[in-house]
Amino acid sequence: MEVRILKGCWDVGFPHLLHHVLSHESPLELQVKPGTLNTRPQPSSLVFGEKPALVTPPAGLHYHGGWKCIGGRGRGCIAVTAAALFHQSQSQENFVVLVSDEEIQKTFTKALELMTSASKSAAREPPPIYQVKDFRGCEYPGVMCVGVEDSWMVEGISRAIQSLFIVDGGTSAAARSRMGLWTEMERRGKLLHRPLTSPKALDSLSDDDWKALNQTSLFLKRLTVPLY
Ligand SMILES: [Zn+2]
Repeated sequence: MEVRILKGCWDVGFPHLLHHVLSHESPLELQVKPGTLNTRPQPSSLVFGEKPALVTPPAGLHYHGGWKCIGGRGRGCIAVTAAALFHQSQSQENFVVLVSDEEIQKTFTKALELMTSASKSAAREPPPIYQVKDFRGCEYPGVMCVGVEDSWMVEGISRAIQSLFIVDGGTSAAARSRMGLWTEMERRGKLLHRPLTSPKALDSLSDDDWKALNQTSLFLKRLTVPLY
C-alpha cells in the first residue's frame, strides 16, 4: 500500500491514518442496491454543486459500425461510451477516470486513442486513470466512474469535489440492481440521467477500429446479414 500525494496537496501524516482505516475495513463485499445511498440527507451534509450525471450507452439493441453490441456484462460498451463522453466534453482538463477492472481501463484508453486519431483533432491529453482502490482518500474536481463494480462504487462516487459522471449499464444482475438505485436517485431528483444520444465519436470509428476494440474486450458480434 502506498500513499500518493497529488499535485497541489501535501503529506500530513497519512500513512498512520491509512493503516488505521485499512485495518478496520470490512472483509465483506458491498452490494449496491436501492437503500445503499442515503436519499434523505441532512441539511448539514448537503454540498453546493451540479447534480451527478448518469451516462448510459444508447438504449436498446445497438450497433457499432458493422457490429452488433452483444452486451454481456456490458464492459466494452461502457468503456467506449465513457471514451466518447470524454472525447466530446469541452471541459475535460480537470477529470480523473476511476475504474475497478483492467479490461475497462484498457478499452477506454484504446477507444479514446482511436477517436482522437479518427477526428483528426489536435491530440488531447488523456485523463489520468486510476483503479478506485488506489484512489482511496483522494479527491479530484471532476470524477468519471466508469463501470465501477458494486464493492468500489460508493468509494468511487464519493471522490468528486465538483462534477461526477457515472457511466454504467449492462445486463448482468449486479448492473441491473445498480440501475435500480440510479433510477431511484433520479426519481428523487438527486441525479440526472443522460443517455449518450449523439455519439459522433462512436460513428467516427472504422470497422478496423471496432475490431481492435473487440480484441481488448469481447463485446461485439459480426453481423451476418447486411444492415440495409
Ligand atoms: Zn454497445
